[in-house]
Amino acid sequence: MNGTLEGKVALVTGSSRGIGRAIAFELARRGADVVINYRHSAAAAEEAVAAIRAIGRRAEAIRADVSQAEEAAALIDAARRHFGGLHIVVNNAGITRDDLLMRMREEAWEEVLRVDLTAVFHVCKAAIRPLMRQRWGRIINIGSVSGLMGQAGQTNYAAAKAGLIGFSKSLAREVGSRGITVNVVAPGFIPTDMTREVAEEMQQAIKALIPLQRFGRAEEVAHAVAFLASEEAAYITGAVLTVDGGLSM
Ligand code: NAD
Repeated sequence: MNGTLEGKVALVTGSSRGIGRAIAFELARRGADVVINYRHSAAAAEEAVAAIRAIGRRAEAIRADVSQAEEAAALIDAARRHFGGLHIVVNNAGITRDDLLMRMREEAWEEVLRVDLTAVFHVCKAAIRPLMRQRWGRIINIGSVSGLMGQAGQTNYAAAKAGLIGFSKSLAREVGSRGITVNVVAPGFIPTDMTREVAEEMQQAIKALIPLQRFGRAEEVAHAVAFLASEEAAYITGAVLTVDGGLSM
């Protein structure tokens, strides 16, 4: 598999830790140069950069809050300037602010929609013209099984992740003629900082519903993303690829 992304430049948002970091590393392992985007944790981002450089690929950490239009645009600009191009964009940055609807504060609704959905609009909008000009591009948006099945306590998050699917399919239709594919990878339950707060009994209840009877690993999500980024996936667009042990089928 090594080398299949040689000559490509990838940007992964929110990639200083968790699933994003695993995606960035896997794209690099397959030959891409990678921009690590982070919001707060410069040290963790530099560690991710060092891990990629250690396997002989170029990497750079760039700070940006992708939920802000100007910062998202500056990130795309900086990424393109730094490596002289951009081919693969992975919208991975995401947050949860779980609560039952009856208790959910408007800020929790708006913050999740802003980071998990509006940020994808900002990043894609900034990246789309250059991708169209080069007539090759891969956009991979990280959704969630919550956006497919719903999840109690996640009306905000599920709405954002479901919205991401409609967004991705619409954009896939707009840019298909330019050699750009747009797909969604929807993970199931992957132990990361994001899921740390989920109560143990809730975790066990979720596990009991998973046909493969275990949680997933960030690397397993990364493999799916790397496939969709590859030349081999050239005829796949507008798809939602679940990586969930069968949870959502
Ligand atoms: P995580 O909390 O470990 O990582 C999320 C990353 O996004 C962090 O590095 C964070 O700093 C970054 N981020 C958040 N807001 C940002 C912003 N405004 N600008 C830039 N970066 C920002 O969580 P994770 O589990 O690795 O999640 C990665 C993606 O996978 C998210 O989109 C999440 O919704 C999705 N997902 C996760 C799971 C799971 O079980 N862990 C399941 C389904 C989907």
